[in-house]
Amino acid sequence: MNIRNQIINLPKVELHCHLDGSLRPETVFDLCLKENIEIPYKNIDDIKKVLEISDTCNSLKEYLEKFSLPVNVMQKKENIYRVTLELLEDAKKDGIEHIEIRFAPFQHMNKGLSENDVVEAALEALKDGNKKFNIHSGLILCSLRHEPVDSSINLVKLALGYQNQGVCAVDLAGNESDFPPEIHKKAFDLAYDKNLKITIHAGETGIAENILKSIRLLHANRIGHGIFAYKDKKTLEYLIENEIPLEMCPKSNLDTKAINDYAKHPFKDYFNAGVKVTLNTDNRTVSNVSLVDEYLNLINILGFNMDEIKVVIKNGIEAAFISTELKANLLNKLV
Ligand SMILES: [Zn+2]
Repeated sequence: MNIRNQIINLPKVELHCHLDGSLRPETVFDLCLKENIEIPYKNIDDIKKVLEISDTCNSLKEYLEKFSLPVNVMQKKENIYRVTLELLEDAKKDGIEHIEIRFAPFQHMNKGLSENDVVEAALEALKDGNKKFNIHSGLILCSLRHEPVDSSINLVKLALGYQNQGVCAVDLAGNESDFPPEIHKKAFDLAYDKNLKITIHAGETGIAENILKSIRLLHANRIGHGIFAYKDKKTLEYLIENEIPLEMCPKSNLDTKAINDYAKHPFKDYFNAGVKVTLNTDNRTVSNVSLVDEYLNLINILGFNMDEIKVVIKNGIEAAFISTELKANLLNKLV
């Protein structure tokens, strides 16, 4: 069996995948036509250029602009349902057993949907995806850093309404350079008090101190990215001692210019130092990458062997926001 197929057959989980960054270009094109959204693009190749990152992208800000068209077509229940179900189908092709899909529901209320409509459309797809594709999943609701703390509090309250009914955690995403974690403390205190799991994007754009702040002030169970942890020895030590998982997404870091060469990504250094690193895509369409591609990159570019790959997969299973039964089940399949 070739290595790609070996990777597909391993019981992988994905913990960091943005729905709006993972739409099929064909679907975006189709939905633009259906919704009469005027676009200056005439075919799939043009749409791909808009959705996928180019080599000339030089910042996270430019990267984030890739999401406006997908968000624009996700303003109806049936469209949210469709793109979520398609993502589950794509994940299944990667041999993923459990995926945590995240998005910011308040961005999908521009054409009359309520916040509950938005979340329920995605949850419906998760339920149907489980039946249709035999893939387990959870939904992570994202709050956005540039929004006021009240918006984050409302997001946490929304998530609490679906706790243990498909919503598995809350997240804080967006521009971390200008909006540090502490601004949103009140919201994540509420999530913590109610035993809702928390993951926070931190240390993605050079600010290592946001990692410890997110853990200590916002009670993060996991850190999204954390690539810049190496800049602060104490942060790295803390992550190792407290077994805080990092949801790492190397291709995405290359695309946002957090690194300028995949081979220089600290994933292997963190792995060797004992950090609980997990592997994820972040945004499948924007980065034009699958989870299997990323595992192959670990092998071909960062020099991982198959035993080490299994440890990375094990880290992911252990860090997933799932029941202990499902964890045990997946770990059994990994042997
Ligand atoms: Zn992310």
